[in-house]
Amino acid sequence: LIVLEKVNKWFGPLHVLQDVNLSVARGEVVVVIGPSGSGKSTLCRAINRLEPIDSGTITFDGQPLPAEGRALARLRSEVGMVFQSFNLFAHKTILQNVMLGPVKVRKEKPAAVRDRAMGLLERVGIASQADKYPAQLSGGQQQRVAIARALAMQPKALLFDEPTSALDPEMVGEVLDVMTSLAAEGMTMVVVTHEMGFARHAANRVVFMADGQLVEEAAPAEFFANPKTERARDFLSKIL
Ligand code: ATP
Ligand code: MG
Repeated sequence: LIVLEKVNKWFGPLHVLQDVNLSVARGEVVVVIGPSGSGKSTLCRAINRLEPIDSGTITFDGQPLPAEGRALARLRSEVGMVFQSFNLFAHKTILQNVMLGPVKVRKEKPAAVRDRAMGLLERVGIASQADKYPAQLSGGQQQRVAIARALAMQPKALLFDEPTSALDPEMVGEVLDVMTSLAAEGMTMVVVTHEMGFARHAANRVVFMADGQLVEEAAPAEFFANPKTERARDFLSKIL
């Protein structure tokens, strides 16, 4: 579904993505790990073209990423993104936040979107909070709303960039539970996270990045039991 070939990206002199090759199959869950500054966020952002690349190719569903216009808007709705900071609209209710994309961007009928949005809020366990404002919810609840909002666009894939890093520890589990159930239902997911429990149990593949390079990729059991590179061993020794 997602294919990156020899992708390179510079920020000025900084070579943040170096000949990155990565394929994510439909229904696959790929967890991306690596030290701070290794290029994980840039990789995620490149996949829905929040960040243009300098060379190489990225295709989604067989098509090169569009650079602009309606095709780009469609790509962004097909590849949802969930960030560390939930980025909900503060002056809109939870339900309005979830309905906004389909109604404003996709011009769907509000009545139909409302039903779908309520169903999604139900699914992430927030339906009873639908008429509240983001500030009235906990961080974990807000992040679950952000996931529902991404799902409201009926995406073909979801990108998560450290979705639990800003949360108090007791709220991490409720967000990971939602992500785990999405994974089990066959959603295609690329997840940047430091939650190694999630990587072990929900990922089909773990990708280890360092200094802009995709250093190692393996099934989680194999990666954690037997990392092949010194850099991956060193990284794991620091976080496990
Ligand atoms: P972290 O774990 O801290 O989130 P990361 O692996 O997500 O790190 P990136 O955010 O992709 O790393 O950043 C990779 C490198 O690119 C870093 O050195 C960062 O400082 C740099 N960088 C990121 N965004 C920009 C930008 N817009 N302009 C210049 N440099 C940037
Ligand atoms: Mg990052």
